[in-house]
Amino acid sequence: MQSPPVVTRFAPSPTGYLHIGGARTALFNWLYARGRGGKFLLRIEDTDRARSTPEATEAILQGLRWLGLDWDGEPVSQFARAERHAEVARAMMAAGTAYPCYTTPAEIEAWRAENPNRPFVSPWRDADPATRPDAPHAIRLKAPREGVTVIHDEVQGDVTFRNDQLDDMVLLRSDGTPTYMHAVVVDDHDMGVTHIIRGDDHLTNAARQAQVYAANGWALPVFAHIPLIHGPDGKKLSKRHGAVGLHEYAAMGYPASAMRNYLARLGWSHGDDELFDDAQARAWFDLSGIGKAPARLDFKKLEHVSGHHVAAMGDVALLDELAGFLSATGQPALTGTQLARLTPALSVLKQKSRTLPQLLDQGRFALIERPVQPDDKAAAVLDTVSKGILNDLTAALQNVIWARDDLEAIAQRIAESNGLGLGKIAAPVRAALAGRTSTPSIFDMMLALGRDETLARLADATA
Ligand code: GLU
Repeated sequence: MQSPPVVTRFAPSPTGYLHIGGARTALFNWLYARGRGGKFLLRIEDTDRARSTPEATEAILQGLRWLGLDWDGEPVSQFARAERHAEVARAMMAAGTAYPCYTTPAEIEAWRAENPNRPFVSPWRDADPATRPDAPHAIRLKAPREGVTVIHDEVQGDVTFRNDQLDDMVLLRSDGTPTYMHAVVVDDHDMGVTHIIRGDDHLTNAARQAQVYAANGWALPVFAHIPLIHGPDGKKLSKRHGAVGLHEYAAMGYPASAMRNYLARLGWSHGDDELFDDAQARAWFDLSGIGKAPARLDFKKLEHVSGHHVAAMGDVALLDELAGFLSATGQPALTGTQLARLTPALSVLKQKSRTLPQLLDQGRFALIERPVQPDDKAAAVLDTVSKGILNDLTAALQNVIWARDDLEAIAQRIAESNGLGLGKIAAPVRAALAGRTSTPSIFDMMLALGRDETLARLADATA
């Protein structure tokens, strides 16, 4: 028999930004679905009305878009489905798998005081339906009291919960609003979710949720509870370790493709493969590769992965990433002239940069306008002797073919005629073209800038 198409989902509660852990959860679900021709759905768990502002939701969508994780269909609002959640709870009550509970908070508290360390058992659980008053009530699941609930988790293995340790959870509160735990099950069922990949902080919830599936006779999805991300010190990731919002990584200039690669490796592995592209990740990603131990965030490794992706990226993709980075950090987009000068240098700049700001810094010569303002070191290089050399060079470059070999030959000749090595004449050229002493090679800069701009900058420096 053919197995049903895979449907995964990401179900964030809007908190104002996309947490790096949430981003990884989304990525795992996306990879799993996309690698199997399945669907990846998005559900916004917006039942907490105080936190769930349109801005908070937009921040999450924005994060997913930046990371390149496309979802199928419209995002589902959990809040908007409250009536459906209530309908299911009422149907369960009619079917006898749930019951109305009229206990007040004070009564529950009194029960707890008399029964320490026991989950609450409602006196209405086994009450004769004829005795039910016509009064406001919650609806509770009539959960099994004996035996165990076992979650066959793809990551954690079989996890067993004693049913007498799980209370009859509330499905619908007396004010008619659904509980989160009930809403999740109804939503996942209605959305046809076949695989739930999420943080292992939801493992206990899975036991209660499995009871709701069973009570409704619904097929249980596959569960994979992934260990949460830890900081470099092995403690649960928190702000004191550094950036925890995906947008912070975007602002640090890690390309999205690098973040996808790095986050995929955070808790999942495919042999020793560290560096891979999306197609490989989609083909390789499987639940069996998810580790049981929490992965540690490793900023050095991220830098390394990022450098690989910057170097491997095609020019169009790289310029796209750069545009995204500039906009995410509130910087102006590159002008036509800047693009025209930067693009020919990209192949060189890529090899020298691990992040996008590093690339922009290396490529600064292509972004600045005349007259180039030399920094202190560059200004010191531009002494009278150097200016003389630059004059010679400028004269020699007037009629040369603007190609690497010809430029190199001219520079070599000028260096020799001044009794210097090529390195010695490179310093003032760097200062003149970039206003700095550390730059890409002078020939790469000349080729990227073109004849007119190069000659103009050399002339400016000797004026
Ligand atoms: N909304 C939950 C969270 O953000 C996720 C619930 C789930 O994946 O089942 O942690």
